[in-house]
Amino acid sequence: MAEVISGKELSLKKRDFMKNQVEMLENKYGRKPHLAVILVGDDPGSVSYVTGKEKACNEIGITNTTIKKPNDITQEELLEIIEELNNNKSVDGILVQLPLPKHINQTFIINSIRPDKDVDGFHPVNVASLYLKQPGIIPCTPKGIMEVLDSVNISIEGKRAVVIGRSNIVGLPVSKLMLDRNATITIAHSRTKDLASVTKEADILIAAVGKPLFVKRDMVKEGAVVIDVGVNRNPETGKLCGDVDFNDVLDKVSYITKVPGGIGPMTITCLMENTIECFIKHVEN
Ligand code: NAP
Repeated sequence: MAEVISGKELSLKKRDFMKNQVEMLENKYGRKPHLAVILVGDDPGSVSYVTGKEKACNEIGITNTTIKKPNDITQEELLEIIEELNNNKSVDGILVQLPLPKHINQTFIINSIRPDKDVDGFHPVNVASLYLKQPGIIPCTPKGIMEVLDSVNISIEGKRAVVIGRSNIVGLPVSKLMLDRNATITIAHSRTKDLASVTKEADILIAAVGKPLFVKRDMVKEGAVVIDVGVNRNPETGKLCGDVDFNDVLDKVSYITKVPGGIGPMTITCLMENTIECFIKHVEN
């Protein structure tokens, strides 16, 4: 039977540590790290993610400003808000909750955030830093996945790792992080032929597909480590579920993360870490 790696428990430990760290930083520098989040519209998913981020900030003691704007905000108005936050010395991290309404150019907005305040790590400067192995901000979900693997001492070097998904926010950056740790990486996607034959090769399988219960028992290798990034609604029960059919694979794999309580909480925890890292760079430079 697999060991279930709890991202929730790991998050609690890390948040406890960060709470003390923030206290020490405040004593040393006279202020706390400050995260500004911009939420456009009232999409329930986005509202719930932003609430989770506020809660984590409050737990850790990070100053948190949420700027809520209606769906019909213009791109120019949004850019003005970002410009103000870019220039505000008391703000360390800026996050624009995605997705944005269709009339706003998402890429343009992301590119307008100062790279040293881009706590999501989506700005091209931070993306390039990751690919060139230079210091920069690492996107939260891939960072959280690596921390989850390290929390149970999974050895990565020399392992065959398969990532299902090639998005800019999960699949590609986590593949690069795994490659940097000397895994042999295969990135699978919607045009991959005979996906099961590819995923069955994986010592470490990372599913970032966005399809409920997509990964079944016949797609995993005996003893594999399975990281489930997906956040979906189970079409039958309406409950949250991952990309992996947890119950189907549980007794075949060695480690697995659960949804909810796996990568989700670690993503928010890594956002807090990124905010603290940005703060330290700002106060020390
Ligand atoms: P995305 O941008 O929609 O990318 C999905 C990827 O899956 C694409 O590369 C797509 O291939 C691939 N794919 C789709 N159908 C496939 C199939 N039948 N076989 C093989 N590959 C297939 O999604 P994302 O933003 O990376 O997110 C993925 C999942 O992770 C979602 O459920 C999302 O909600 C979740 N997520 C969770 C967190 C967290 O904090 N836990 C954070 C971010 C995302 P193509 O490129 O060929 O289209």
